[in-house]
Amino acid sequence: MSTPQHQPEPAADHPRPPLVDVLAGDSRREIRVHQHGFVALLDAMPRLVPQGQTADSAIVQAARVSYGRGTKRVQEDRGLIRYLLRNRHTTPFEMVEFKFHIAMPIFVARQWIRHRTANVNEYSGRYSVMPDRFYRPTLGSVRKQSASNRQGSDGVLGQDPADPARAAAETQTAQDFLAYLDAAESLHARYQSLLDRGVSRELARVGLPLSLYTEWYWKCDLHNILRFLSLRLDAHAQDEIRAYAQAMHDLIAPVVPITMEAWRDYDLDALTLSGPEARALSALLAGGSAALASDNQRELAEWAAKLARLGAADPRPAMAAPATHTPPIHAKAPGPGAQAAPRELA
Ligand SMILES: Cc1cc2nc3c(=O)[nH]c(=O)nc-3n(C[C@H](O)[C@H](O)[C@H](O)COP(=O)(O)OP(=O)(O)OC[C@H]3O[C@@H](n4cnc5c(N)ncnc54)[C@H](O)[C@@H]3O)c2cc1C
Repeated sequence: MSTPQHQPEPAADHPRPPLVDVLAGDSRREIRVHQHGFVALLDAMPRLVPQGQTADSAIVQAARVSYGRGTKRVQEDRGLIRYLLRNRHTTPFEMVEFKFHIAMPIFVARQWIRHRTANVNEYSGRYSVMPDRFYRPTLGSVRKQSASNRQGSDGVLGQDPADPARAAAETQTAQDFLAYLDAAESLHARYQSLLDRGVSRELARVGLPLSLYTEWYWKCDLHNILRFLSLRLDAHAQDEIRAYAQAMHDLIAPVVPITMEAWRDYDLDALTLSGPEARALSALLAGGSAALASDNQRELAEWAAKLARLGAADPRPAMAAPATHTPPIHAKAPGPGAQAAPRELA
């Protein structure tokens, strides 16, 4: 990108605007997650910004390689931030940092810790007794294994009104799952008893389940928080960590509103196309078939989902047809932003 203009220091006789706290004096802003979890925003950098501005101003200031009065009018700042985000000029977003206190089940923490660019300090099960707190879904929210995604779930057990016998059997399975969690949670009493009888805390804890809660302080710059949110708010992320990502999003959105709006526009709500997908879309717009030049089933399914989101149609039936014939293609269940009615395209 071109080098942004340097902003001069304000003249000595030009008073600086008063500074305001981006957290309005709060030392903790907390959102509860599930029964025992939370995400709490403890601190932000910059903490003080000129009155009338938000922490977004630190991004603009860095991008303009300026000191002091590094921002222009709010509308220009907004344009610059949106330009930076759109064009993946990412380092200015590292000038903003957030510190959180988070309580989450260990299985969520294991996914979370993979985000290596944060600074983390976790509760020590060697030093302290692990509290008796566990994550457990309700009977009506025990998710089923997805048939199409080995790493995901699809729907919940016992919710098929069209097939009461099947729903009853699934409800029993969900009850069995909760009984299995009861058994795992009961291990805490044995853990406590073993501690009382002299087993070290560092060893006694190893028999506790992944549903047990842990806590940590987590500090990260905004660039890498956005990466975390992109991955963990995505529909493919596990529901439990998505709830935490949503809480984190909701806590920082008022502090960096311009950045978060741009990120939603250019990342969260964006639809990216691969080269073959762009070519297939061009062919479709030119009146041809939207068939993707691929025999990879996952890639074909992803393309169908993108077309559905655009209000177009699944081209896969067309691929099975004779090469000389381009049959009509009809939309699958519409995704976000899709048109309500299926549309014939070719
Ligand atoms: C839906 C989903 C499913 C997943 N499934 C699995 C799975 O089955 N198994 C599994 O092991 N993981 C899995 N992961 C974790 C995933 O592979 C990443 O480790 C995790 O999402 C962190 O992403 P990241 O590396 O971009 O983040 P960060 O670690 O925060 O890294 C941010 C950026 O910095 C770069 N970076 C960080 N550290 C280094 C380094 N030391 N050297 C070079 N570059 C670095 C990264 O390349 C990345 O571009 C899954 C993640 C998701 C979202």
